[in-house]
Amino acid sequence: MKIVLLGPPGAGKGTQADVLVKKLFVPHISTGDMFRAAISSGTPLGVEAKGYMDKGQLVPDEVTVGIIADRIAQPDCREGFLLDGFPRTLAQAEALDKLLAGLGGLDAVINISVPLDKLIVRLTGRRMCRDCGNIYHLLYNAPEKEDVCDSCGGQLYQRADDCEETVKNRLDVYEKQTAPLIEYYTRQGVLKTINGDQQINAVLAELGDALGQHWG
Ligand code: ADP
Ligand code: AMP
Repeated sequence: MKIVLLGPPGAGKGTQADVLVKKLFVPHISTGDMFRAAISSGTPLGVEAKGYMDKGQLVPDEVTVGIIADRIAQPDCREGFLLDGFPRTLAQAEALDKLLAGLGGLDAVINISVPLDKLIVRLTGRRMCRDCGNIYHLLYNAPEKEDVCDSCGGQLYQRADDCEETVKNRLDVYEKQTAPLIEYYTRQGVLKTINGDQQINAVLAELGDALGQHWG
């Protein structure tokens, strides 16, 4: 299955993707995670991406499409993949269509919808594990021990771009550059919108229904 999780920053794409890929047996491809890994390793890609990410802007399309083209050409993507945070512009969506021409195109684009005011609370309260990337929230998905990852014991941190100022920029960027993809994929007949403003497990159940899966 070739799936895209669409939705504003904070909608719960990463949270749902982590669970979904274990059920669907496809790789989780998050451009945000790829850029953060490049920043940690200090590669030229990381240095370039950081300048944009710190301001809440998008990394240029040529760069982002390039890393996705390389990633989905890997053998583990032959049976499909789950894209999280890509595409984010019309140019990226068109580039993805070209990359998938001859491969049957996308099977589903799931738009996770959450009201704007809730997104700000979700993003500013998000904490991530430095070691395994697990996602937490101080109120909605709190770790058992403050600042410690439940699954690997790693240290939790707040992403630099989750401060309130940058969050507002990111939500503006979403409205201007990414929201138009809802219409783009509606026209292609592959878009399904689900309600992301409910408990994490309820969102997962709705996602399963949208993908025609029965997880019980
Ligand atoms: P995205 O990948 O779309 O930016 P995340 O999955 O990182 O979003 O989720 C953003 C924040 O919201 C995280 O702190 C996460 O724990 C929290 N979160 C995710 N899904 C829900 C939900 N259904 N209800 C409440 N909080 C949620
Ligand atoms: P995310 O982890 O999805 O919230 O992404 C974090 C940041 O990485 C974004 O604010 C952008 O700066 C950058 N980024 C991630 N995915 C993309 C993309 N598809 N296009 C451009 N920039 C991206």
